Amino acid sequence: MKMFSKKMPLICLGILGMAGLLFTGCGQKSSSFQKVDTAMGTIVSQTLYVDGQGQEVSREIISCINQLEQELLSWRLPESEIYRINENAGNEEGMEISPKLAEMLKACLEVSSASQGAFDITIGDVVRLWDIDSWAGAEDISGFIVPEEEAIREALKDTGYEGITLQDGNLIMPKDFQLDMGAVGKGIALDEIRELLRQHKEVTGAVISVGGSVLTYGSKPDGSVWNVGVVNPLEPSENIGILKLSGEWCVSTSGDYERYVEVRGERYHHILDPATGRPASGGVRGVTILTKEGLYSDALSTACFVLGVEKGMALAEHFEAEVLFILEDGEIMMSEGMKKYLYLSNAGK
Ligand code: AMP
Ligand code: MG
Repeated sequence: MKMFSKKMPLICLGILGMAGLLFTGCGQKSSSFQKVDTAMGTIVSQTLYVDGQGQEVSREIISCINQLEQELLSWRLPESEIYRINENAGNEEGMEISPKLAEMLKACLEVSSASQGAFDITIGDVVRLWDIDSWAGAEDISGFIVPEEEAIREALKDTGYEGITLQDGNLIMPKDFQLDMGAVGKGIALDEIRELLRQHKEVTGAVISVGGSVLTYGSKPDGSVWNVGVVNPLEPSENIGILKLSGEWCVSTSGDYERYVEVRGERYHHILDPATGRPASGGVRGVTILTKEGLYSDALSTACFVLGVEKGMALAEHFEAEVLFILEDGEIMMSEGMKKYLYLSNAGK
């Protein structure tokens, strides 16, 4: 038995020229500040270019992520809205939810509908059944049990985004349904961080990675582009290439190498196909999405992983996102627009 967990951000931050103190063209001082923390159960890496000190903003960013998890998105923490929604499943009256969460859920349902359920936040019961997150990276995985077909069928009965109703801030969820925001949480964090950075005019540029999702913001003092590496799922310590980006972007990656358990040569990873209740197995090893909003980049990376190349390309286009697929044999397929940003490692571009 082998196991592996890649909780480190697998899109690495290719930040070049990281001197402690940099100078902008207009003579203003801009210092670069770097920090790596853990939040939302993953690694958060920050590089901030600040006219002044970066520590305080950096702390606020971590608080913002923690608050998002504790107050809105966690299925584990009793004070979060998602937890209370899950507790309230089966209440025919439904439950009033905050306008902020309502907006997020609306966007999630939009992606569910456009992806014909390949992305589905009502998949909570099936995620709990597999429990990959608990086992991936564990020293001893002898207790990991591949769920029985019957158990998967049962859990699947309590899923299906079409079963929930969201109207005027009221959410009605059938009995035993459980929401899981794992596929969008990191992307939502990027959107929140961007809003926070906008309030801090002293931050002139930033690149922030929350797990597999990266936000680029503003610009570097020397005007050069942001470099965001795209991991090779076949060799996760290497990049297949670099995305060269100017200004604000969100880049999310979903891959079968991020969190998985391997039993007798079979890999059970954390991205489930809601149609089967099993790890998605459409021949894709990794998907990277490039778009302006984190919620969408994250939701779409998961959806495209499940859908595979043909349907995934169409879905990304529908949301005006760029997409890159890495297939089992290492072949790389991408949208036309993605080609403008990607510099392949072995292409000598
Ligand atoms: P990501 O790494 O962004 O692709 O998200 C994977 C996480 O989202 C898993 O750990 C589950 O918590 C959850 N998840 C797995 N499969 C799906 C799916 N098809 N739709 C929505 N959420 C999912
Ligand atoms: Mg995702």
